[in-house]
Amino acid sequence: MGDDAEYNPWVTEPTPHLRSWLSGIPLSRAAVGVHGKEVHLIATDTRLGVEGLPQSATGQAAIFTGRNAPQAMGMHMAGLPFRRLREWVQEDNIYKQFARKGWKATFANSYTQEYFERPATKRGWISVSTATMLSAQVPVRYLPELLRGEAVYHDLTRRTLKEHLPEVDEITPETAAEHLTRLGRDHDLVVHEFFLSDRAGHKHDPELVRWVVETLDRFLGAMLRLRQRQDTIVLVSDHGNMEDLRVRTHTMNPVPTLVAGDVGAIENGQVAEWNLCCIAPLLQRLVERRQKGES
Ligand SMILES: [Zn+2]
Repeated sequence: MGDDAEYNPWVTEPTPHLRSWLSGIPLSRAAVGVHGKEVHLIATDTRLGVEGLPQSATGQAAIFTGRNAPQAMGMHMAGLPFRRLREWVQEDNIYKQFARKGWKATFANSYTQEYFERPATKRGWISVSTATMLSAQVPVRYLPELLRGEAVYHDLTRRTLKEHLPEVDEITPETAAEHLTRLGRDHDLVVHEFFLSDRAGHKHDPELVRWVVETLDRFLGAMLRLRQRQDTIVLVSDHGNMEDLRVRTHTMNPVPTLVAGDVGAIENGQVAEWNLCCIAPLLQRLVERRQKGES
């Protein structure tokens, strides 16, 4: 979450849906706070007390476990996790926490068969999100599920899938939101991971940057429209990047935790110190409150 400045595409590009969530303010530090009864934008620390630029592997590990992964590893770790971090996230994580309570959690992204047959995958070179899901025996979604609308591709619209499989039709961000929302009907937690914003930030490809902003804005707008009273949408990122196009690296900026729904589940005392480790406990509180009828 960056400055209200010309190098921040979340400010310069049109984002009518996000702005309508955020009292007309673009997604930037200026928008932090409560917007109406159902939306709260929290500035989220990704540095977690560890020197250096925040990175994906440890950032995701903190989100998925609720524990301070960079501190446990002694550094911010990028890319695919080494064995030590992989085992650390597999010990305990949000999917295992949900399973212990008898709650149903799922990962919406779809995989290809080839992904699991690659020698690299077999050697354990898998992302934190994949390692986490597999550790809790969460069922893997493949192409048939995707084509039935029972999974959501990482880029939402299948545009990168179409490069490999020309017979696949691109869908709109709104249709992707319908598919994701439908998975929520019979799960207590549906996780989706989107990473083209990171790629766009590293590559500084203006066309990709614009596409990411427009696609996420339309997708989030549709998610909010489709949300039913008992549902809560939580958007978070593992680190900053694209919100500052002056640099091609990650940033030290706080990231958004955007909550739409039961904002009462946010413990207000925590907001000033909010960081990536607060997400997993928040997701648990959301389900507890829904079960108690507090939401
Ligand atoms: Zn990156």
